[in-house]
Amino acid sequence: MTSAESSRQPHAPPNFYGLSRNQLADHLVKLGLPTFRAQQLFSWVYQKHQRHPGAMTDLPLSFRDRLEELCDLRLPPPAAVLATPDGSTHKFVLELAGGARVECVSMRTQRRLTFCLSSQVGCALGCAFCATGLMGLSRNLGAGEIVAQEVAMGDLHRWNDERFNIVFMGMGEPLANYKALMDSIRILRDERGLNMGARRITVSTSGLVPQIRKLADEGLQLGLAISLHATTDELRDRLVPVNRRWPLRELMTAAREYGERTGRRVTLEYTLLAGVNDHAEDADRLADMARALPSKINLIPYNPVPGLEWKRPDRRAVEAFAHRLLPRAPAVTVRRTLGGEIWAACGQLGGLGA
Ligand code: SAH
Ligand code: SF4
Repeated sequence: MTSAESSRQPHAPPNFYGLSRNQLADHLVKLGLPTFRAQQLFSWVYQKHQRHPGAMTDLPLSFRDRLEELCDLRLPPPAAVLATPDGSTHKFVLELAGGARVECVSMRTQRRLTFCLSSQVGCALGCAFCATGLMGLSRNLGAGEIVAQEVAMGDLHRWNDERFNIVFMGMGEPLANYKALMDSIRILRDERGLNMGARRITVSTSGLVPQIRKLADEGLQLGLAISLHATTDELRDRLVPVNRRWPLRELMTAAREYGERTGRRVTLEYTLLAGVNDHAEDADRLADMARALPSKINLIPYNPVPGLEWKRPDRRAVEAFAHRLLPRAPAVTVRRTLGGEIWAACGQLGGLGA
């Protein structure tokens, strides 16, 4: 439980979004209510997208009248919702209990709608090119604060797209907040709730090896993305300091085992920094590393962060890098920079101190 959650009033109702269906049922049973009310509430909130007791017409009036004291269905209010001029990307700044703010992003491409969720306010891992890293860690998010991001963004899109993806690529290192991450995934996957297939959820990590192993043990087909960014320990120690604890060899072994055990290709994320990790030799080493496991490479041209000196390679350099990789690597994509105009692109969250 986060400090903000534990500082609620002693008799304040629990946050609905942080409860699994079983937990909600237990809670309701303790209050003398039947178990199946939990299923009905899940269906209203996550399937019919109604949170107002007045809309829940198949529930007895006596129950609806009490709903507010049974569980807290309020979403964190948005402090800001920013949209790109083309309307494809929205950045949400949500106001959490205790005054912290968290950012999350929705991105619509022609093929799909993707929601990018945060797992922490700030991040302790201090990657050298990341705006969130500059903030340091304020606190972990609770599972309810993670699920609420999804519900708030889905509302804005009126739940028009039935098939959307979730990526844990917002603020924070998801595997450093493992329990809340897994609790939120359990809620998102509930077949009586949003019914998200594990294959449509991707967790991105800077490389916490023991937690990668633990994730493999969950027996789910969650997507895993590894923030690689360098092909030598010397450079990765500088860019992604957690590499000093779990160097490349260990990380790539854990990634390979994850891919083999889940039957899913692991995404290797590689942020391109001009003159730093975009040489032909880097591409060659990256291709070799990618071939050693079921994987695909996702190149991310660096998104500028105020106060940091890194440079994004120009378009030609990005293309040259991708072309050098292509014949040697299993699969390569270049991430379109969505949301740069509103500081919503990868690694820019928290960048404006919103
Ligand atoms: N903490 C997790 C997930 C969040 S960031 C992780 O590190 O994996 C999602 C991706 O964007 C990561 O690969 C991250 O390294 C990368 N990233 C961070 N800052 C960036 C920036 N300024 N430009 C481009 N990519 C960046
Ligand atoms: Fe944290 Fe990920 Fe940013 Fe590194 S890249 S500082 S792990 S959020």
